[in-house]
Amino acid sequence: MNRDKPREMILKGISGSPGICIGKAYVVDREGVNIIERYPVSEAMVPQETDRFKNAVAKAKKEHARIIQALDKDVSETLNILETHMALFKDKMLYGKTIETIQKERINAEWALRKVARQVKLMFQQVDDQYLKSRVNDIVQVSDKIMSYLLGARDIKIADINKRVIIVAHDLSPADASQIQLELIKGFVTDRGGKDSHTGIVAKSLKIPSVFGLARATASINNDDILIVDGSSGIIIINPDEDTLFKYEERLARFEAYRADIERDSHLPAVTRDGVALNLMANIELVEEVVSAKDNGAAGIGLFRTEFLYLDLERFPTEEELLVKYKELVELMNPEPVTIRTLDINGDKFNPYIDPVEEANPSLGLRAVRFCLENKDIFVTQIKAILRAAAFGNIKLLIPMISCMEEIIAVKAVINQAVLALEQDDKIFNKDIALGIMIEVPSAVLMADELAKQVDFFSIGTNDLIQYSMAIDRRNRRVAHLYQALNPAVLKMIKMVFAAAEKNNIELVMCGEMAGDPINIPVLLGFGLKNLSMNPASIPVIKKMIRGMDFQKAQSFAQKVLTFSTVQEITRFTQEEYKEILPYKEMEE
Ligand code: PEP
Ligand code: MG
Repeated sequence: MNRDKPREMILKGISGSPGICIGKAYVVDREGVNIIERYPVSEAMVPQETDRFKNAVAKAKKEHARIIQALDKDVSETLNILETHMALFKDKMLYGKTIETIQKERINAEWALRKVARQVKLMFQQVDDQYLKSRVNDIVQVSDKIMSYLLGARDIKIADINKRVIIVAHDLSPADASQIQLELIKGFVTDRGGKDSHTGIVAKSLKIPSVFGLARATASINNDDILIVDGSSGIIIINPDEDTLFKYEERLARFEAYRADIERDSHLPAVTRDGVALNLMANIELVEEVVSAKDNGAAGIGLFRTEFLYLDLERFPTEEELLVKYKELVELMNPEPVTIRTLDINGDKFNPYIDPVEEANPSLGLRAVRFCLENKDIFVTQIKAILRAAAFGNIKLLIPMISCMEEIIAVKAVINQAVLALEQDDKIFNKDIALGIMIEVPSAVLMADELAKQVDFFSIGTNDLIQYSMAIDRRNRRVAHLYQALNPAVLKMIKMVFAAAEKNNIELVMCGEMAGDPINIPVLLGFGLKNLSMNPASIPVIKKMIRGMDFQKAQSFAQKVLTFSTVQEITRFTQEEYKEILPYKEMEE
C-alpha cells in the first residue's frame, strides 16, 4: 500500500436508497445548526465576545448589501423582502437583545443569538396577525445568516453545486434533497437521519445511492476525499485502497447491469405463477415524476404526497395553482387512477412559512390532518382543487394520519363545505370520488373495523405505522435498528387491517416503503394484499419477484410467519424459503 495515501476507512450507517457510487466528496456543512454549543464566557472576555457577534453581523450585512445591489430592480417583491432583512440585522429585538444576553448571562455569541432568535420567534407566533406571523421566517433567515458567519461556515446551497460529487452533510431536509441536480450529484451521505425518512424517499426516487445516520461523516471526510457509497448495504468507504476500489467498480457494473435488466421487463404485468394479479402503483412527490412512474410500469399513482408543492413556496398555494398541478397529473395518468393525499405537513416536513411553531416532538404534534383541521381555510382550498381536478380524470382522495373516528367525521364536514362552495361558485367539479384514509397510527388499526364503515378504501402507511407502533422517530439513527417492517407486531397489525377491509368490502392498498422492499413481499402476498404502491424505482424489482412466486405457497408461508415472535426468525425464514427469488443475489461475491 502506498504510505503517502490516507488510510481506507469504513463507516457504517443506515441504507437510505440502494445503489453504489464512487466519486469525490463535497462537504456542505461541517457546522450543522444542531451542534451549536453553549459555553460560559469570563467577564474579561465579554467585550471580545460582543465584538465577535458585531463582526458577524457586519459581515452578514455586507454580503446582504451586495446581493441587493446585484439584484434586478424589476423584482420588487424580492427586493422588499431583502430590504426588510437589512433592517432586521440591526433590529433592537434581535441585535440589541443578543448583545444584552452575552453581557448579562456571560455566554457565547452563538448560544445567545439562538436563544434570542427563539424568543423573538415565539413572540411573533403568538400574535394573531397573519402578516406578523409570516415575518417569523425573516427572523429565522437573518439569524441563520449571522450564525453562519459566527460559525465560520459558508452558506452553500445544494442547488448551486456545480461539480460531479458526493454530498456529505450533517443533515439534509427532504426539501434540500429535492434540490439536487441529478446530472451533478452522484450520491449523498449524512451524519443524521434514520430509516425511511422523507429524505431517503426522495433519494430513492432520484435513484441516487445514499447512506444516513453515519454520525461521524462530516467529521471524518474532507473535501475531495474519494468515497464509495454502498447505499444497498448502508456503508461508505473513505479513501478506499486499490483492491477495494476495484471490487466496488465491479459491483457497480453488476448493479447497473442488473438494474437495466429488470427495467427492461418493467411493463410486464405483476402476476404470480399461479395466476394471481397484483396492482403495483407509484408513490410520487412531484408531477414531474409521472415519467418515472410510467417508465417503471406503474398501474397508477397510489400516493401523491402533495406537501412538496407547499414546501417549495413561501406562502400557501392558491386553489387555482393547485388545480393546475392536479389537473396536469390526472391528465398525464389517464385513465389510470391517481390517489391524491391531502397535506401532510409538519413531522419531518416543516416549513416555517406554513407553520412557524417549533414543536418538541413534531411527529407527535400538529401534523397532517391535525394541522388541516386546525387550518380549515387551507384544507378547504386543497379539497376544492382536488374535486375540481377530479372532473378531468380518475382521482381518489386520501387523508393522512387519521387517529380516531371524530377526525374522519370532521374531514367529511370539510369536504361538504368545499362542495357547497364549489356549487355556489358554479365550478365544474366531481364529488363522486373514492375517499380513503391512511392507516398509520396504531389507534386506527384497532378501530379499523369501525373506520372502514366510513370510507371507500384504506391505505396502510407503514413508514409511520412502524414509527408509531415501535415508538421510534423515523429520523433518529440511534433507534433505527428498531425500525422493523417484519416485526411480528407490525405484521399482526397489517393482518388486522386486511381483515377489517375484507369484512367491510373496501379496497386495501399498502403505500409505505415496506411495499417496495423485496424481503417483505412474500408475507404481504401471503396475507392477500393485492394493491401495493411504492417508490417508482422499486416497481421493476418487485414485479420481477412476484412473477417468480406462487400465491398458494405464500399463503402457507405467511401463516407460519405469524407463529414466530422475533424479527430475526422471520427474516431468516423468508431468506431460506425465498432465496431463489430474492433480488440482489447478483450483487454477492
Ligand atoms: C407512510 O407513513 O407509510 C407514508 C406512506 O406516508 P409518509 O411516508 O409520507 O409519511
Ligand atoms: Mg405517513
